[in-house]
Amino acid sequence: MRDFVAELEQRKHSGLYRVRRQISGPQQPLLVADGRPLLSFCSNDYLGMASRPELSRAAADAMQGNGLGGAASHLVCGHHDAHHRLEQRLAAFTGRSAALFFSTGYMANMGVISALAGRGDTIFSDRLNHASIIDGCILSRARVRRFGHGDPESLESMLSRTGGHKLVVTDGVFSMDGDIAPLAELSRLCRAHDALLVVDDAHGIGVLGPEGRGSLAELGLTEDDVPVLIGTLGKAVGSSGAFVAGPALLMDYLVQKARTYIYTTAMPPAIAAATCASIDLIEQEQHRRDHLATLIATFRQGALALGYELMPSRTPIQPIMVGDNWTALALSQALEERGLLVTAIRPPTVPEGQARLRVTLSAAHSRDDLQQLLNGLAQCRHLLQTGEEQAV
Ligand code: PMP
Repeated sequence: MRDFVAELEQRKHSGLYRVRRQISGPQQPLLVADGRPLLSFCSNDYLGMASRPELSRAAADAMQGNGLGGAASHLVCGHHDAHHRLEQRLAAFTGRSAALFFSTGYMANMGVISALAGRGDTIFSDRLNHASIIDGCILSRARVRRFGHGDPESLESMLSRTGGHKLVVTDGVFSMDGDIAPLAELSRLCRAHDALLVVDDAHGIGVLGPEGRGSLAELGLTEDDVPVLIGTLGKAVGSSGAFVAGPALLMDYLVQKARTYIYTTAMPPAIAAATCASIDLIEQEQHRRDHLATLIATFRQGALALGYELMPSRTPIQPIMVGDNWTALALSQALEERGLLVTAIRPPTVPEGQARLRVTLSAAHSRDDLQQLLNGLAQCRHLLQTGEEQAV
């Protein structure tokens, strides 16, 4: 049998052991984590929607009428009119012909990629794509080629040397770096090489583009340019689940073929109702995105002035690059001692030697919250220098 104890010990030795914190109460910047109040800068609730009373009211009203459970899969008798309404709302919101509601983003990526590519096909996947995309590629049994991160030239040389059916997949906003894929170039290349383009805009939906319609809408890219759009609903939308949107024919194909849509219990209808309520608010409340943009700019200015190394990101994902696993943990720990929760992200989530603190900002943060983070970072700056000296 495999030596699980030794593997866990090895993780501990390398500074890679992970622990879970127990959160009490609502998801908001001021969190109660393991019984202790902490000001959090690590959630994906970018617009502060997760604990909005409008969402819980919509869910409670829907539960009043429909009960809780999803009861069956969509293709048996689980496809509720609340799901149908949400799918129509998502299609309209993203400017696409049709949409399907999945239970999680992980399942959406696994199901969509493995349905749209198979044995004998080739998938081209950005080197820094999310784990769920990587797993979807593996599940598909297609040949997988990883192209350079955000590098259309690297993709083009691969596409031009490959025959057969081709699928290109990329994060819209990269989850650990916060940068945005070169979507217009990728779209152009896919058209030129007859490849199907799939974009996972998990971190762009709600945050980028007019009315928060995402990173494709920001560039004016339509369903003709990018046929398959995946988005998650547990991040900026503050709810749960995910969707894929695109041409009706493709959505029909996925209903027939996407195993993670077919063989799972439908989400509680109340989640769909609450998600619709959230999308209404997201469309209307531009002031949240404006406030978020101000926080992002202020954070970048402050952290760079303190000498921290940031990534070229204009999204709410603002990683502070550290490098060494132990230094990242020490910095996170020191911030926590000052009442700030910013988790250290280590391999294999990020490449070896690129441990970081993944700071995320939310429209629910006040300017004062942000100032507290910058004050904490100012007090902990010396840890980074020590870490670098040790690494040398
Ligand atoms: N895609 C990306 C780019 C993500 O960052 C994540 C979640 N971190 C997912 C998909 C998975 O979404 P979900 O949490 O809904 O499973």
